[in-house]
Parts: sequence; C-alpha cells; structure tokens
Amino acid sequence: MEQCACVERELDKVLQKFGSYGQHCEQSLEELLCYVSQLRQELSSAALQGAPLSATLSLVMAQCCRKIKDTVQKLASDHKDIHSSVSRVGKAIDRNFDAELCSVVSDSAWDSREKQQQQTLQLAIVEHLYQQGMLSVAEELSQESTLNMDLDFKQPFLELNRILEALHEQDLWPALDWAVSNRPRLLELNSSLEFKLHRLHFIRLLAGGPDKQLEALSYARHFQPFACLHQREIQVMMGSLVYLPLGIANSPYGHLLDARHWTEICETFTRDACALLGLSVESPLSVSFASGCVALPVLMNIKAVIEQRQCTGVWSHKDELPIEIELGMKCWYHSVFACPILRQQTTDSNPPIKLVCGHVISRDALNKLINGGKLKCPYCPMEQNPADGKRIIF
Ligand SMILES: [Zn+2]
Repeated sequence: MEQCACVERELDKVLQKFGSYGQHCEQSLEELLCYVSQLRQELSSAALQGAPLSATLSLVMAQCCRKIKDTVQKLASDHKDIHSSVSRVGKAIDRNFDAELCSVVSDSAWDSREKQQQQTLQLAIVEHLYQQGMLSVAEELSQESTLNMDLDFKQPFLELNRILEALHEQDLWPALDWAVSNRPRLLELNSSLEFKLHRLHFIRLLAGGPDKQLEALSYARHFQPFACLHQREIQVMMGSLVYLPLGIANSPYGHLLDARHWTEICETFTRDACALLGLSVESPLSVSFASGCVALPVLMNIKAVIEQRQCTGVWSHKDELPIEIELGMKCWYHSVFACPILRQQTTDSNPPIKLVCGHVISRDALNKLINGGKLKCPYCPMEQNPADGKRIIF
C-alpha cells in the first residue's frame, strides 16, 4: 500500500501542476487577446482617419509582437516542466513496483508471436469493456484487433447496459419489462428483482405525497403475486400509507426513501441478469487481475527465497504454482480433487474413481495399482475388482 501512496503523491503533484498550468495559460492568453484587440481598434481608427502609420503606433506594434513571442515561449517552457513531472511518476512506478515478473510467469505467456494467446487476451479485454458498458471502446478495439465479434456475443451486453443506464437515470420501465418477460426463469433463480422494481415504483409514488395516494393504492395490486414471499415488506409499504398526508420523510417509514434502494436495485439487476444470460458478474479479466494482485506478491517472495537458497531448479513448471494460494470464497467456482497417490489434480482424461471401500483415487493411479487383475486399496487395504470403481463427478 505504501508503494501505491508513493506513486499517488507523484501523480497528485502532476495533476496540481497541470491544473495551475491550465489556469495560467488561459489567463495569459486572455490578457494577450485583450491587448491585441485594443491595438487592432487603435489601428483601425487610425486607418479610418486616412493618416499613415505613426511612429508611436509602429513601436507599439513591435512591442506587441515581442510580447506574443515571449508569452508563447514562456508557456512552451512551462509545458516542458510538466513533462519532467510526468516522467517522475514513471520513475516512481519503476522504483516502487517490481517490473521483473518473467521468473514467475511462463515465458511464452506474453509471447507476441503466439497469435492464439494474443487473441485470447484481446477477447478478454473486449469482453471486459463490454461488461463495463464502454461499448464504443470495445467496438473500436475489436475492429482494430480484427476480432470477429458476432452479434450473439454482443447482444447480452448491449441489453444489460441499456437497462442499467436507464436504472441509473431512475427509469424503472426497461428493467420491469425485462423482468416481466423473464419472470419464470427469474423465479427459478429465486430472484426478487421484479418485486423490488415494483416496490421502488411504489416508493416513488409515496414520495409524491398525498396527491399520489390513489395511484399508489392502485399500483399496490402489482404486489399480489409476491404476497407469500415478501409479506413483511408489503406490510411495511401498506403501513406507510397512513403517514402519507404528513409526509413519509419524517415518519417511521422514512427509510423507504433511502437512496441506497437505487444502488441496490442496480446490483440486484446486474447479478440476476448476468445469471440468466449466462454471464459472470465480474468479467474474466477483472477476476484474473484481482487474483493476480493476490498471487503475485506471494510468488515474488517465493522466487526471492528460491534464489537466496540457490535452488532455482525447484520450480521449473511455470504452468503450475509452487504453493497453494488462497483467493477467498468468491473465487471458489467448482470443487477440485487431487489424487492422493499421484499428487496431481484430476482431469477429464484422468478422473477421480471411488473404490468399493469408499476411498477415492485417480484412474491413472488405479491402473498403476492393478496387480494380477486385482486391486488392493492403498488405504484400507481392501482387495477388490478394479472394474467396480465408479467415476465421481464433482
Ligand atoms: Zn479403501
């Protein structure tokens, strides 16, 4: 964190310089413009009188030209000063962060000759940009990198963003239309999105005061399908109607008008819509980036230890981590099983097999342990027919 703060300090200096340069630049140009237009007026009035250019005026003009030149030069040199501050930020980054990552990642990972890898990386970036709602940047990048993104790929992101943008503008209808047309699938997900959208509209009517009472009452019929699941919340909303003439804001129901409901609805919509459209809430790129931020310092430490003890051969397989790195619950996507005999993670080609006794080993290990058509469990050690083992799917 200290390193980040260090770089941030340099960055602040640049921003401050940039701001004051902008102000100074604007001010000097303004002054110059004023001066020139004054001179221009004097010149044109002299021309109207038909008199030739007086010595004083030509002297003033020469002065004006010099002043313009000086100002431009001064501005250019000030601008150069900012360059040095910018380069100081670069140096601070180099000083505070380890740029030498080659020894902890596979050498071929960033090999620009590997077209496949390049494309995978570009695809991940484009997908991330789409997910962040930066549609035009994503479009531009996919064109420049000649990625062929078909409409089927883009469609879910476009729809998601259209609805989210409307929600940010506090327009509930696109989201409500979407929720109603996807109601059966949302219910399968146990989603309360549609109810929350109706509730938010109801709350908005409440905020409108007594004039909106009838409208609010008639809108309340939308809650009927959710009566079982959200009984308590519906009761609260109905209770709030009592305070409508006095104003909800100063009543015990004031919390209904809390702005956080709008932030919450965006989160609920993103989560549920992503689940329905088969997208992850976080893009693969941001998940990889966050994982890298956790894993890299650990790997760098290990690298340092390995180098210190001069046992560089210990970690030669770059596609395999030398230790387990804990990324936290949110990065648990599926269960994995490591064969206790071969000490390798099982795969589709070498799946985990449950033996008759209940112990689980990988198929390759099982094949190696077969002796004379029989298998002796390496743990219990029950003798059994290898064909009785059953594949386990996690
Ligand atoms: Zn056993």
